[in-house]
Amino acid sequence: MALIERAPAKINLSLDVLRKREDGLHDVEMVMTTIDLSDRIELKPLREDKIEISIESRYVPDDERNLAYKAAQAFKNKYGIQKGVHICIKKSIPVSAGLGGGSTDAAAVLRGLNRLWDLNVPMEELANLGATLGADVPFCIYGKTAIARGYGEKIERLTSPPPCWVILAKPNIGVSTWKVFNRIDTDELYHPNTVKVLEALSEGDFHKLCNYIGNSLEPITSSMHPEVFQIRRAMKSMGANGVLMSGSGPTVYGLVKQENKARRIYNGMRGFCAEVYLVRILG
Ligand code: ATP
Repeated sequence: MALIERAPAKINLSLDVLRKREDGLHDVEMVMTTIDLSDRIELKPLREDKIEISIESRYVPDDERNLAYKAAQAFKNKYGIQKGVHICIKKSIPVSAGLGGGSTDAAAVLRGLNRLWDLNVPMEELANLGATLGADVPFCIYGKTAIARGYGEKIERLTSPPPCWVILAKPNIGVSTWKVFNRIDTDELYHPNTVKVLEALSEGDFHKLCNYIGNSLEPITSSMHPEVFQIRRAMKSMGANGVLMSGSGPTVYGLVKQENKARRIYNGMRGFCAEVYLVRILG
């Protein structure tokens, strides 16, 4: 019997890099929410004790380098499972985009294997296991809307943003998260006002949220890829209420309340940028 897990993408409503730690990781504060752009993960039990991946993508490996493979391996090791699984990944989330594509696939595999092999592992334990795979995986275990602290492993659930439309525009470049973090100069870094973002969410205030969304990494990625800045400016001039780069980029999103305005901006951005999506917040 095959089992399906949906793996939604995330956007950062805020991303603040607080400090570099002695172990080389960065302490962060990230407010994230899920959007209705999802990969589809199908898990099929195998007789043999092995992990197989099938995926149709030019950009994502179908072997042990795939984060979904690593998640399955980590799960099997942790719980001493001697069974096999075939993982079929249908990707809709753009790769190396700042939308957490690999992390959400890994999280979906952990949730799915927990069901497939009937282990009833609590979510918190799955999130801890996920933290060994990547900083965004713990958030992706829970989805919805949350703030992640530490290097991403400490999750606190938040009220979802008010319902709205999200226009995503990804320039035709892939950004390496590692390269962006490597360029951080903690003395020069921009810090968003996370407290105001949290207030806006708890007050359900869409316009306040749009005013305060912010990302420490945006100036860094923009300086490496001016396309990010150009897309941001275009989206703002078309009337998006809030505009921000997600994660380490390069995807820029715009938040809009009204559907007709969202469609207008979506159509306008399509003349400007190859990959554009119009989605809603799942939060
Ligand atoms: P983040 O914001 O968490 O850094 P991202 O959305 O910018 O993530 P991903 O789409 O997760 O980036 O891809 C980052 C790298 O991970 C790519 O080089 C890709 O080949 C690799 N990768 C491994 N497994 C996967 C997967 N299942 N889906 C997408 N990318 C994967």
